[in-house]
Amino acid sequence: MRVIVETDLEGISGVVSWEQTREMSSAMYQSARDLLMGDVNALVEGLIAGGADDIIVLDGHGGGFNFIPERMHPGARYFTGRNRRPFLGWEELYQGADAGILLGYHAMAGTPDGMLRHTQSSMQGNRYWYNECESGEIAQDALVFGHYDIPVILVSGDHAACREARALLGDGLTTVEVKRGYGEEFGLLLAPEAAHDRLREGARQALGRTSQCRPYRLELPIRGRLRFPDKSVADRFVPARATRVDDYTYDASFDSARDIYFF
Ligand SMILES: [Zn+2]
Repeated sequence: MRVIVETDLEGISGVVSWEQTREMSSAMYQSARDLLMGDVNALVEGLIAGGADDIIVLDGHGGGFNFIPERMHPGARYFTGRNRRPFLGWEELYQGADAGILLGYHAMAGTPDGMLRHTQSSMQGNRYWYNECESGEIAQDALVFGHYDIPVILVSGDHAACREARALLGDGLTTVEVKRGYGEEFGLLLAPEAAHDRLREGARQALGRTSQCRPYRLELPIRGRLRFPDKSVADRFVPARATRVDDYTYDASFDSARDIYFF
């Protein structure tokens, strides 16, 4: 059974501030990388216990150099580095995968109780809609998995991210809540060790519920909308394929969910 795990940093246990996720030269960021590897390794242990025999983990946050190679659990393989979406030759690993996991995710931009909430850019306040439904990164990555017929079986993150994921992906989904936000950079956290116990158990349980999860799909072509809160930021945006609608907004049409990152 092949499982593909996509990771982000904002929803990892112990991560609470933008300094931990944005400032690569800071000691706070270095400790966040360590926390990330702790969550990844606990999840991998749970997946192995649940019967997964081919686990691929994608380093998804920011520029894609967050993993610490010497801390990688030997039971998985790891995608890391600069060549990321759009897929350039590596999508074959998604074809034939049985399940997808979103580890360390966060709620979409504008979610009041979402810790480190944003959609794509944490600085610019971008917001995205597909077929008129506002979508965060959980929906975006679930859509790409859905294109390959892969159901998302587990999402981890804060309370708001887990709530967003369940509303989108249904009751078959397993969620692992590792913290609860009471402000953008403030919340009630589990100790990473306690979060790791939940992740191990959640991963094991989620594999047993794979048949209850459906790939997330939207009617094609997908009508995409991207809105910036600021006209000057919208002015600087160079769309790969979009039409400007007004001072703040771009629209695009996608024949395949795989293409939504061309926005
Ligand atoms: Zn991130």
